[in-house]
Amino acid sequence: MRAEILAFGTELLMGETVDTNSAHIAASLPALGVDLHTVTIMGDEMADMVDMFRKCMTRSDVIICTGGLGPTKDDLTREAIAECFGETITLDPDLIAAMEQNFRNRGQEMPETNKKQAGVIPSVTVLPNPRGTAPGWWAEKDGVIIIAMPGVPGEMVLMWAQQAAPRLKERAQGTVIMSRTFKTIGLGEAAVGEYVSGLFGRENPYLGIYARQDGIHLRIITRAASQEEALDLIAPMEAEIRAALDSAIWGIDDETPEERVGALLTERGLTLAAMESCTGGLLASTVTDVPGASRYFRGSLVTYATEVKSIAGVAPALIEEHGVVSAEVACAMAEAVRDALEADVGIGITGVAGPGPQDGIPAGTVFAGVAMNGAVESTVMRFPPDRPLVKRRAVVMALLQVYRMLLESQQ
Ligand code: AMP
Ligand code: MG
Repeated sequence: MRAEILAFGTELLMGETVDTNSAHIAASLPALGVDLHTVTIMGDEMADMVDMFRKCMTRSDVIICTGGLGPTKDDLTREAIAECFGETITLDPDLIAAMEQNFRNRGQEMPETNKKQAGVIPSVTVLPNPRGTAPGWWAEKDGVIIIAMPGVPGEMVLMWAQQAAPRLKERAQGTVIMSRTFKTIGLGEAAVGEYVSGLFGRENPYLGIYARQDGIHLRIITRAASQEEALDLIAPMEAEIRAALDSAIWGIDDETPEERVGALLTERGLTLAAMESCTGGLLASTVTDVPGASRYFRGSLVTYATEVKSIAGVAPALIEEHGVVSAEVACAMAEAVRDALEADVGIGITGVAGPGPQDGIPAGTVFAGVAMNGAVESTVMRFPPDRPLVKRRAVVMALLQVYRMLLESQQ
């Protein structure tokens, strides 16, 4: 089943609102067995919308749209579909009554303009909207399905999950698209590619390689008649990838470094503490995103100013000798915080977030020190000089360093 997404809204074209709806829908289509081939963002222009629907109907089995279902004159999705289908919109009295009730429940009178949202055409099945006034449309003509959902992400996400996606899944039966991602660290893209070079170039399962913030990812994508068959197709390639890359793989699919580190610390009954400079507390925030972090996370000291690092136990002479952004200081921070917060593992992060250099050290340079089992190791990272990016990547790399050292300490 071939699908495309249309995101309607002039605000999307102006860059005011980012089109998150399309990404959300796109992410769930493979599991439904639906092939997405195009995503389009369009302004609220009636003639353009009608032209677009006509074009889409010649090339897609299902057209999924969001936006343009509001009560105002610029919301035209219903009108454009009706025009394209050659049908006339009438107001559904039951829908009007339900919408009026909805307003009364919130202690309000329904404005007259909202009645437009109760418009239907003969080819439409209405998709209820538990979070808002605009019902969605499931419209079908000449073998093509058009799904129209509200633009408000909270309303769309629920309508998609509860109404539209399950119906689509029934209709799309026959193909399952499944993927599995292997997340590696410590090797560059070329090196990872070389380890599994024999697996590229196949069609089903297909192997892709992607450089991501948290390392190089390998992704197997397969298409099959059933979930079981898809798993059978993935298994041999997965075995080869695991055999070739083994210890470089730190996570599968949606796993995050903070989850993996948290799971290992919990398993071993160990605790973690951090001293953060350029990440400004982001490591603590990230680690505590994981439920149950209180079992292993002692805390983090944000020692942004150089003097504060000394207050927290880093010798001023060491800072003087090596500079505050150095491997030595990162290691000293890790040891100091491990001892001060009585943790088993200490992390120290010091770097130059940018945009300019500091004391001759280029922006984007970050040192992470990890202290555990009487040993301390540092790594240096060089990221593009973009502050939020440097902070995020430094956290990911520091956590993966902890993960690697925990694994090695068991061997
Ligand atoms: P609408 O259904 O067109 O009235 O959209 C209502 C609101 O939802 C808009 O004002 C936007 O803020 C938001 N919105 C619309 N389309 C999208 C989209 N594709 N992604 C994220 N937000 C959106
Ligand atoms: Mg709109």
